[in-house]
Amino acid sequence: TKNVEEAADIDGKEEAKTKVTYNIVFVTSEAAPYSKTGGLGDVCGSLPIALAARGHRVMVVSPRYLNGTPSDNKFAGALDLDCRIKLYCFGGEHDVAFFHEYREGVDWVFVDHPSYHRPGNPYGDSYGAFGDNQFRFTLLCHAACEAPLVLPLGGFTYGEKCLFIVNDWHAGLVPVLLAAKYRLYGVYKDARSILTIHNLAHQGVEPAATYKNLGLPPEWYGALEWVFPTWARTHALDTGEAVNILKGAIVTADRILTVSQGYSWEITTAEGGYGLNGLLSSRKSVINGITNGIDIVEWDPSSDESIDFHYSVDDLSGKVKCKIALQKELDLPVRPECPLIGFIGRLDYQKGIDLIRLAIPDIMEDDVQFVMLGSGDPQFENWMRATESAYKNKFRGWVGFNVPISHRITAGCDILLMPSRFEPCGLNQLYAMRYGTVPVVHATGGLRDTVEIFNPYAQGGRGEGTGWTFSPLTKESLLAALRIAVETFRDHKSSWEGLMKRGMEKDFTWESSAVKYEQAFKWTFLDPPYVS
Ligand code: ADP
Repeated sequence: TKNVEEAADIDGKEEAKTKVTYNIVFVTSEAAPYSKTGGLGDVCGSLPIALAARGHRVMVVSPRYLNGTPSDNKFAGALDLDCRIKLYCFGGEHDVAFFHEYREGVDWVFVDHPSYHRPGNPYGDSYGAFGDNQFRFTLLCHAACEAPLVLPLGGFTYGEKCLFIVNDWHAGLVPVLLAAKYRLYGVYKDARSILTIHNLAHQGVEPAATYKNLGLPPEWYGALEWVFPTWARTHALDTGEAVNILKGAIVTADRILTVSQGYSWEITTAEGGYGLNGLLSSRKSVINGITNGIDIVEWDPSSDESIDFHYSVDDLSGKVKCKIALQKELDLPVRPECPLIGFIGRLDYQKGIDLIRLAIPDIMEDDVQFVMLGSGDPQFENWMRATESAYKNKFRGWVGFNVPISHRITAGCDILLMPSRFEPCGLNQLYAMRYGTVPVVHATGGLRDTVEIFNPYAQGGRGEGTGWTFSPLTKESLLAALRIAVETFRDHKSSWEGLMKRGMEKDFTWESSAVKYEQAFKWTFLDPPYVS
């Protein structure tokens, strides 16, 4: 997986002479700012723009979610293309419409269907996941396959010679449809597909009987077939048979990318492979990892509209003002000298919240403040509320999904804690470093790739590194790393400033990731389609 970085470097220099551009179609369940529940939304909102800026023609296809409140219509800028098509799946014919907005060089295309119009987030509401998600995302995939053929965007369709970038299981039927449906009739023979895995834990697994609903020929069942091990079956008659959409994408996509190099290896191991490691290992020669970039305009401490004071690597003075403002906003004692530790993320087992819960009594013994922003698992939400009452002067738990507050926490904290059990890339540690907030992270996936451990003695005593990584994932090692971070903040001001500055100077731009993506595109088109 190293090769993609090196080759991109060499090719980057040659680029002006040999630039090849592609018609690229992203298929995704979320794209910021239209829809976002996590990193997937950030990536699909930014990478397309970076690729368009490099000369590619780029379309993003995702659902037009309406939650019923007109004032919260993030899709207001997208207009009806007046193109209705019929899609055949789930035992019937379904009419979908396409909406479109051309923004920042990208064709943002939104598939419209009543099943996308309901309160909640893209996947569910307070009662849990929507029961018809398989239908909703099957529809998205069918519509996305038609979009390049039928939508005359800017006067011209994208046509058959395009590159589909399908993101996670929601878009996973696209490469299967290309192979099983379109190429059978000579369509999309020159198209290619790349599966980007943002999170392998979600695979789109449904009962085997639902296969007939997907709009695929019966003989393709094997591509999606998924048999649970005996221990995972629920009763004696359960044969363990299921369909797995992500598996279908893994066996049909021309190439596979993950959002960091570390994760591209982890998914091939038994620990990180979620049952798909064997299959992924068999496709190792076409798997690469490319670390996500970040939107450096949205996340810029020198101009961020969500924070009251601005700062940069040349003048850090605004940072402590942001900290004081945050302490005031959270009604914590205003104490600039007190280490302020933050956490932002989904309250999910993946994010290691259980470990934070375990460690909090120890952490709270020290003279520190702690703020958590997140929503998700109700048991952790309740725990956050209870912890706030238990440590009134030290702990704040903000239950909810709130982007401006996430900016203020990123700017106002000294330390960002990320004890993720696994982390395909992780964006918050990147935002933190850009804001001079020092990450303390579990050494896994993208966290291990992007946070360099602090060494005060390196560089002739000037120090190197941007934060702390800890392993194994235990309370003890978390506490040990956090204590060193807190001590360094308190007692070694110049070391701390070095840590902040090195983090702020890191290049996490989408431009550098986009160059690596182009390298992967080139490789994808060198070979015939994997399944033709
Ligand atoms: P994941 O995709 O697994 O949730 P990432 O770190 O890749 O994790 O991306 C999470 C994104 O969602 C980041 O942009 C982060 O700031 C944002 N985010 C997560 N939780 C919240 C929240 N409660 N409020 C605002 N933004 C959040």
